[in-house]
Amino acid sequence: MRIVVGYLYPKVMCQYGDLGNVITIVRRCQWRGIDVEVTELDVGDAVDPGQIDLFLVGGGADTHQRLVCEDLLAVKGEGIRQAIDQGAAAFAVCAGYQLWGHYYRTATGQELAGLGVFDAHTIHRAAQTGTRLDTIARAGSVRAVGNLVVQWGDQALVGFENHGGRTYLHPGARPLGKILAGGGNNSEDGWEGCTYKNAIGTYLHGPALPKNPRLADHIIAAALGRRYGDVQLAPLDDTQEIAAHDQATERSLARPSRARHLWGQGVG
Ligand code: GLN
Repeated sequence: MRIVVGYLYPKVMCQYGDLGNVITIVRRCQWRGIDVEVTELDVGDAVDPGQIDLFLVGGGADTHQRLVCEDLLAVKGEGIRQAIDQGAAAFAVCAGYQLWGHYYRTATGQELAGLGVFDAHTIHRAAQTGTRLDTIARAGSVRAVGNLVVQWGDQALVGFENHGGRTYLHPGARPLGKILAGGGNNSEDGWEGCTYKNAIGTYLHGPALPKNPRLADHIIAAALGRRYGDVQLAPLDDTQEIAAHDQATERSLARPSRARHLWGQGVG
């Protein structure tokens, strides 16, 4: 069996360690003898919808989103939408998630058009409240930062969030899960993430997939499903991964973080 991963904007959308998701998918496939190829999809590269089984895209600041949004729509949009409609899988994190919705209104109020795969839109909290981000304290005050725990079916997903955008699902859109700790989509309605067919959008950084091996396998099975139908993945020895996951979950639930940090790499 074989999977082709389309890694979107590795040079631009790589601010939050989400490369770990790519590495996790590659390793977990290789450990099972599944061939895996990673195709980097940079600005200017078109998407052949029949080729990519799994799209991965990570987080970035508003500045980075501004750099890629036109390319995402004009060069890749049609190919990505077709692939997703044909059953390709996707895992889009934070800034990537925001740009896969209908639009993202940035901290300064600029509207960036999105792919519209997810029936949702995002507005930066600074634009909602008219907060000027001219001091570190003010910039920090509008962000949702800390541990994030999400009820996903009968399991908990654990990760870290750091975003100013607030995402609102439109009626009928399916969330990824319910928030057990943290802010998630908008810190208001209790929902986190969005799913459409085999595409998942989420605020879970961490990176998320090394911390949540069951989610990683769910995504691998979905990506294989397009070509091979229902696939039973061989189990791996995840004793340590599950122990780390459980401990991270327990700690995040016991001590939900109220801390807000700004990492100093551009606003948003
Ligand atoms: N710029 C976006 C926001 O602040 C995304 C941040 C991120 O990817 N972590 O909401």
